Amino acid sequence: MKALKDLMALCGDDPNRDGLQETPLRVLKAFLEYTEGYKEDPKEHLKKTFDVNHQEIVMVKDIEFYSMCEHHFAPFFGVAHVGYIPGSKITGLSKLGRLVEGYAKRFQVQERLTNQIADAIEEILEPQGVMVVIEAKHMCMCGRGIKKTTAQTSTTAVRGLYANDASARLEFLTLLERQSRY
Ligand SMILES: [Zn+2]
Repeated sequence: MKALKDLMALCGDDPNRDGLQETPLRVLKAFLEYTEGYKEDPKEHLKKTFDVNHQEIVMVKDIEFYSMCEHHFAPFFGVAHVGYIPGSKITGLSKLGRLVEGYAKRFQVQERLTNQIADAIEEILEPQGVMVVIEAKHMCMCGRGIKKTTAQTSTTAVRGLYANDASARLEFLTLLERQSRY
């Protein structure tokens, strides 16, 4: 609390004025929510698996997430697209959303977030391949520094057959670009 009041004063405001009285507590609560992922091991979500004979891609796209840039404590947010080609195990589709959420709700960088999602799926589901694409907007680029409000950052992580198979990557990207018809 003291630290937040010091920050307000450093910025040039009076931390004791009326409108800022409750702010430190609100900020604290908000940060506890932004970082809820530390309370869990997101990999655990994947451990509920099913034996289904499915040898082609399983993909969930447009998984919304909201994360916190560890360099500026500024939000970055966007969508994650997660696809894998199963080995012998598949997991529930909603678990992929929980996995993204669990790693997003931390102090993060987009690159690590992308890789953590791919690594968790590779480790727990032992798929033939996994591919993750994240598209995000970073408030630390929009509101400060170079102020590029339209810039979007894309990152990918590939594991297994996606590393060597250009046609598998193309299939993923084709599904990603395809507009849904429902
Ligand atoms: Zn940043």
